[in-house]
Amino acid sequence: MLSVSEAEAIILNLVPPLADQRDIEIVDLLAADHRILADPVTSQLDFPHWDNSAMDGYAVRYEDVQHSHNAQPTVLEIVEEIPAGYQPQSTLQSGQAARIFTGAVMPAGADTVVMQEKTRREENRVFILAAPQPQEFVRHQAAFYQAGKQLLPAGIKLNPPEIAVLAAAQCTQLSVYRRPRVAIFSSGDELVTPDKPLQPGQIVDSNQYALAALVRETGAEPLLLGIIKDNPEALREAIAYAIANADLVLSSGGVSVGDYDYIDQILESLGAKIHIRSVAISPGKPLTVATFPPQARSLGLQKQSLPARANVTQNSALSTQHSALYFGLPGNPVSALVTFWRFVQPAIKKLSGLAAGWEPVFIKARSHDELRSNGKRETYLWGCLHLIDGVYEFHKAGGSHSSGNLINLAQTNALAVLPVGKTVISPQEEVQVLQVG
Ligand code: AMP
Ligand code: MG
Repeated sequence: MLSVSEAEAIILNLVPPLADQRDIEIVDLLAADHRILADPVTSQLDFPHWDNSAMDGYAVRYEDVQHSHNAQPTVLEIVEEIPAGYQPQSTLQSGQAARIFTGAVMPAGADTVVMQEKTRREENRVFILAAPQPQEFVRHQAAFYQAGKQLLPAGIKLNPPEIAVLAAAQCTQLSVYRRPRVAIFSSGDELVTPDKPLQPGQIVDSNQYALAALVRETGAEPLLLGIIKDNPEALREAIAYAIANADLVLSSGGVSVGDYDYIDQILESLGAKIHIRSVAISPGKPLTVATFPPQARSLGLQKQSLPARANVTQNSALSTQHSALYFGLPGNPVSALVTFWRFVQPAIKKLSGLAAGWEPVFIKARSHDELRSNGKRETYLWGCLHLIDGVYEFHKAGGSHSSGNLINLAQTNALAVLPVGKTVISPQEEVQVLQVG
């Protein structure tokens, strides 16, 4: 059986990032937050655009004021007042100063700003009471960024700081990668939607809702295909539809022992190559990972009939020139979420065009509670990460840690990891924690 890190390496290696011209769309700056930039951005503006003042004070010529001090101030004639947003009209001559405000353009001839606290004003004269440093309080044109150089690289996520930079650079239309489309379906004869009265023995399909929320949170677009019966023909039809209409497919359920061959056979008959059948992780051992090459995807296109509950946006084009990735997640609600966080989320991030930073981030924490595992598989226990006196502390969720219990997963934000061979982590001992949600 593959280890978690072996499986992770295989999966990330299988992900083809959206990099094709057809995967790029133009969006308005106001709609660009959290999207992935597809082309580098260059500005024709210098930052700052002009030499300007970093203080309210007086623009002067350094050579005029270099010997000023309290007992012997330099007296200068004020020839102009320059508020922010105003173009200076004069060129300072020796013996002259201009009143200037923060952000205002430096007048020609001036090279230094004296802050107003170091001056005294008498009508149109200013007394410089202390010698400044040469060029003090001047922000020089292009000191922060030079026009024509790369402002932002491709493959980054546009968070609020990047949005601010783009706005300042007057970049109002941006090339971003389209959101990856992720088809999701649940399989199981016992499953019903949350809006149906529950008959004895039935189970509500919570995975579809949880996975859709996770997919959206990761920046992708979910395509919900509903509940598919444990029936080879129905499954075959759903998978063929999914691979033709999505970059990545998530099914949950139907991959534990017994169902195994069944799903694998269907995948293979549709042209898939199966890369992973199970991983030494708890919860989550039965995990199938397969790829469908482009020709298999387009075969699916020919026989697509829309499943009853599909929420497809018909106008969004999907290029099928690269492989589709298929994840058969375990049906147990906790297993489905843990395997999503550990394996699927990094894959979606890489697929979405992010150039780096798709790997999960582990934090070193101190465990508040005793953590136990049988040591046979890498074990993930859910709980909360708190920052206490500058140290992260992991608090295991109370109640059962059965993979069938999703109730105590609510209000948690982290998974503590016990490596293979580690059967106990004692209170106060160090533990690696994966932050989720
Ligand atoms: P399976 O992997 O199909 O053997 O399912 C394992 C367990 O998870 C069974 O108890 C299923 O009823 C449950 N299960 C499967 N699919 C879902 C789902 N979509 N939502 C909630 N529970 C599920
Ligand atoms: Mg099942």
